[in-house]
Amino acid sequence: MDFIDLKSQYQASRDLINGRIQAVLDHGQYIMGPEVGELETRLAEYTGASHCITVASGTEALLIALMALGVGRGDEVITTPFTFIATAEAIVLLGATPVFVDVDPYTCNIDPALIEARITPRTRAIIPVSLYGQPADMDEINAIAERHGIAVIEDAAQSFGASYRGRQSCNLSRMGCTSFFPSKPLGCYGDGGALFTSDEELAKAMREIRVHGQSKRYVHTRIGVGGRMDTLQCAVVLAKLELFDWELQQRQRAAATYDNLLFGNDAGLRPVGRREDRTSVYAQYTVVLEHRTDLQAALQAAQIPTAVHYPVPIHRQPAYAHLDAAASCPVSDALAGKVMSLPMGPYLSNADIHAVCSTLLHAARETQAAHLAAPADLTV
Ligand SMILES: *Cc1c(COP(=O)(O)O)cnc(C)c1O
Repeated sequence: MDFIDLKSQYQASRDLINGRIQAVLDHGQYIMGPEVGELETRLAEYTGASHCITVASGTEALLIALMALGVGRGDEVITTPFTFIATAEAIVLLGATPVFVDVDPYTCNIDPALIEARITPRTRAIIPVSLYGQPADMDEINAIAERHGIAVIEDAAQSFGASYRGRQSCNLSRMGCTSFFPSKPLGCYGDGGALFTSDEELAKAMREIRVHGQSKRYVHTRIGVGGRMDTLQCAVVLAKLELFDWELQQRQRAAATYDNLLFGNDAGLRPVGRREDRTSVYAQYTVVLEHRTDLQAALQAAQIPTAVHYPVPIHRQPAYAHLDAAASCPVSDALAGKVMSLPMGPYLSNADIHAVCSTLLHAARETQAAHLAAPADLTV
């Protein structure tokens, strides 16, 4: 069993993917070829945003979004510490300071009720992360940002394809960033990412920043980066889009199967909470539990791969802890010790899910008994 089964996905779309790649090899426009614009049009339509700008990676998307806002030294950007490092890295690379706000223990997404207390005159933006594929509380966050005249950038690296109150992730705030890293719900075969906005000026800025700040050939009106997504990777995403909606349905099927088998019993597990007004694309299927080390070992012994997203919150990382010394994120600290992600993907069979669940439930009950039958404490 693979943690994320990319081989079956390739087999399902093999002819489409091969055909798209061959077309690029035939026309030979490897940088900014026709597939780049074609993909941008398709993705803008998919999300409802006016503009999509493909870029070299999800990390590059975050960096370019912040550059387009002019974020730099002395500025502060509010974000969650319970995320992949790239969210904070983009802020720090520009000389700005990340300000960490704790997450909601139910959804693991940034808690909007805690944001306003950390806004200062230096705050320039808020970057909520739609963790595990479920959009953050974007309307509440947008309302706070509007009151203070600051921008919201959704880190939708895990949530492309999710919906929120009838709208699509990536188009839920001023700017949205996503990633096409191979294991993301919509992945390519290397690095890739995209930016979304309906703001004309920001779109123009981001297009220029992507190519070294160039407004015309060898006219550099801004400081930019080498941040293009290459044509071959765009071709792969175009091919994968054909099955994407079906794959999202399969992800829902897999998640529902897990839900039915894992919870509402005496094994002491709980799911990451989901809200009724939005969908998750289950970039990860993550469970909150006690005694993680023991349970991971039991699954590993049965050759079932697991992962932890994320074991150390960013405000505890050696290179980041000093940047926001005032950060107080007890929920993130607790969750970092209690989350475990299980194999997930559209091609994961129900038989495999049953195998994962029976191994996990058995191990969870045994571990509980071994810990003197102390009831699991999942109140973080
Ligand atoms: C994957 C990811 C990124 C970075 O995307 P890359 O394409 O790997 O650079 C940023 N933020 C989050 C939340 C991610 O999961």
